[in-house]
Amino acid sequence: MELRKDPITRSWVITGDDVPDAAQVESPCLFCADAAAPLQVVSSITGDGGQWSARSVVHPTALYHIEGEPNRRGDGIYDRMRPVGAHEILIENPKHDHQLWNASDSEIRNFLKLAAQRAQDLKRDGRFKYVSIFKNHGVHAGQEFDHPTSQITATTFVPRRVLYELRAGREYFKAKERCVFCDIIAQEERQNLRVLESRGDYIALCPYAPRVPYETWILPLTHDASFEHNRLSKPDSLGGLSPLIRRTLQRIRTLTEEYHLVLHTSPNTFHVSQSLGYWKTLEDDYHWHIEILPILGAKAKSYTFKEVYYSPVSSETAVKRLQDARIEG
Ligand SMILES: [Zn+2]
Ligand SMILES: [Zn+2]
Ligand SMILES: [Zn+2]
Repeated sequence: MELRKDPITRSWVITGDDVPDAAQVESPCLFCADAAAPLQVVSSITGDGGQWSARSVVHPTALYHIEGEPNRRGDGIYDRMRPVGAHEILIENPKHDHQLWNASDSEIRNFLKLAAQRAQDLKRDGRFKYVSIFKNHGVHAGQEFDHPTSQITATTFVPRRVLYELRAGREYFKAKERCVFCDIIAQEERQNLRVLESRGDYIALCPYAPRVPYETWILPLTHDASFEHNRLSKPDSLGGLSPLIRRTLQRIRTLTEEYHLVLHTSPNTFHVSQSLGYWKTLEDDYHWHIEILPILGAKAKSYTFKEVYYSPVSSETAVKRLQDARIEG
């Protein structure tokens, strides 16, 4: 697999001819507390009873690999590089049936703490420009495992949706000297038409221009560019977030069990990039948040939501297969 850049949209995709893995044996579960299978544990959070409550492991079929240099190179007008990065599973809970919508506050808090720790740790690696945290739940969302899990990736590029947000946040700040997310929150609170609920320092709302029905965002009310930094330095700041995630997912589950959840935080400021101009006003112009994109029944396949497009058939193979296809004229 390799990363290729679309010269028009400037977004990176991951593609190549994937060799399908041997059918993944899901029972017994790989990730349960008593799983026999050896896992490459990266980090653990200990819970109340002294057992692990949340832990991260290397993804058994990782898309990105930690070793080596990206070796970015030109290919005529195109750009390509090796998929150097990190790809870990964040096991949300040792219990197979404790999901983010029915786990306890302290279990969800431990998971969030783990996510923050992993993000901060991966950002110490100057090769990585961005750390993504996401959860795909349900068949149409591309869920990989039954066990309650999320994923974290560290990449040598910023995924395109985040890049749009970062550029737009910077432009807005340049024009108004204010954070666009703070302005959205202020207007939503004032109008009170699309606010779902507030808990502690967090608000859940349905965005003014949703990409999918019932799209919901969760944001900190206090301006903050990075999820991981203050979540670790001020652990109390996780207080309202755990119940708000649980309650919001419960609401969405009355409509559909399938959804994407992504956490958007600031890019890696240890990575110095000339072309991205990293980012003089980043601390003021970006505001971390969670986006939940539900997938509704019959229309499920009418759109796909991807942070990074992944195509397990290369264009070179695709063109051969299409050329060799038997057609009638
Ligand atoms: Zn399990
Ligand atoms: Zn803000
Ligand atoms: Zn976002």
